Amino acid sequence: MAEYQDSLLVDSHAHLDGSQFVDDLDATIDRATANGISHILTIGCDLKSSEQSIAIANKYEHIFAAVGVHPHDAVEIDDESLKILRSMLTQPKVVALGEIGLDFYRDRSPREIQRYAFRRQIRLAREMGKPIIIHDRDAHNEVIQILKEEKSSEIGGVLHCFSGDLQIAEQCLELGFYLSFTGTITYPKNQEIRDVIKHIPIDRMLVETDCPYLSPQKFRGKRNEPALVRYTAEKIAEIKDLTIEDVAIITSANCRSLFGLGAVKVTSV
Ligand SMILES: [Zn+2]
Ligand SMILES: [Zn+2]
Repeated sequence: MAEYQDSLLVDSHAHLDGSQFVDDLDATIDRATANGISHILTIGCDLKSSEQSIAIANKYEHIFAAVGVHPHDAVEIDDESLKILRSMLTQPKVVALGEIGLDFYRDRSPREIQRYAFRRQIRLAREMGKPIIIHDRDAHNEVIQILKEEKSSEIGGVLHCFSGDLQIAEQCLELGFYLSFTGTITYPKNQEIRDVIKHIPIDRMLVETDCPYLSPQKFRGKRNEPALVRYTAEKIAEIKDLTIEDVAIITSANCRSLFGLGAVKVTSV
């Protein structure tokens, strides 16, 4: 008998296409399911990984994809690549454009090119009516300014692996965006981000792994994977004085309303 079960988590940001999962992707996905993960969004960083993310999403019913060009690879963005992204965005399992944004921490692409790629992809998302998944490192104020100038509130989206302070968080919420948190909230030194979580409403939060990176404290130094998103949800439950079931129900509902994922259907025995 099939029933809807809400107390399952969504890993809203994973990179399943990478070489780190090539040998055991099926087992990794099975472990996620065994740990109560109902859906996974696998996220593209350039055209190649976007294509691979779609292939993975097409293979597994409960996996969805986002396509986009990361600020590190911003040089890839031109009229031709935007055309390819536009066509990818019409595919049924593609629910968002991302990850896109600014990274002034690593500065792997010239900042001017990062800004250009970010703006062009927001415009594409607006044209296609898709939410955006934003990567922001050490560029908070400029990210917010570009989000405003490009009228991105029309489509909404999420600031993934949020790393700003409370003031930045409030500005993002005002623009209608969600904030997503990774295993980094379990790191002892990260009190500032736990303070942000304490003060913002849970109905605007998502959880993610950003795997294979950013393993929670208990697994630091090892490969991260979707099953471990539970540790982030547990930490949020502790900070907000909620149960993990509450966190699962609300963050999964947030994912459904942002990305349009259907209600979670599980077959019970
Ligand atoms: Zn990122
Ligand atoms: Zn990522």
